[in-house]
Amino acid sequence: MTGVAVPAPYVDPAAPALLAGAPTPRRALFLDRDGVVNVDHAYVHSEAETDWIPGIFTLVAEAAAAGYLPIVVTNQAGIARGLYDAATFERYTAWVHSEFAARGAPLLATYHCPHHPTAGIGGLRVACGCRKPAPGMLLRAMRDWDLSPSASLLLGDQPSDLAAARAAGVGRAIEVRGGRLPDRAALTLGGAGSGRGPAVPGVSG
Ligand SMILES: [Mg+2]
Ligand SMILES: [Zn+2]
Repeated sequence: MTGVAVPAPYVDPAAPALLAGAPTPRRALFLDRDGVVNVDHAYVHSEAETDWIPGIFTLVAEAAAAGYLPIVVTNQAGIARGLYDAATFERYTAWVHSEFAARGAPLLATYHCPHHPTAGIGGLRVACGCRKPAPGMLLRAMRDWDLSPSASLLLGDQPSDLAAARAAGVGRAIEVRGGRLPDRAALTLGGAGSGRGPAVPGVSG
């Protein structure tokens, strides 16, 4: 862990309404992006490259109805490598949020890590505390939104996602394999094993 700060999140315009309607203690549905929200075509940063994971809008809407605040946490080594810049990422993120909002499934916020320990350019070449498997993005989100770690849930498609969840004390993490999202029952805490995505040993409830 270094002194490198986790970048400020993109916060959805619907955030006040989402927070006002959320039960306490507040709980998050943390979503990795590539492989969970959109198909991982590597360094996706434009509308043209975006193929949504089937069922993601329904899942987010159902999670919100169950009291979860949907928050995206994404490693963005493409920024570190200079493939696109932070402004491009922010514009794309705003578009992703607008697509969710248009389907009645608004996201609360998106956190990203623009660093990489070996491939980053200039100051972005750093061993930060936010690049998953480090828990920095999750920990910042918990502080920013006063979230209960143990009541929160994470969906990810990589071991680094699940490790970050474990390090941050997230109550449950579900591995998404091959773009197959868990079903609605898996969103209920204590419902481990009811989804198609297996709960992860050592992380599950
Ligand atoms: Mg992923
Ligand atoms: Zn970072």
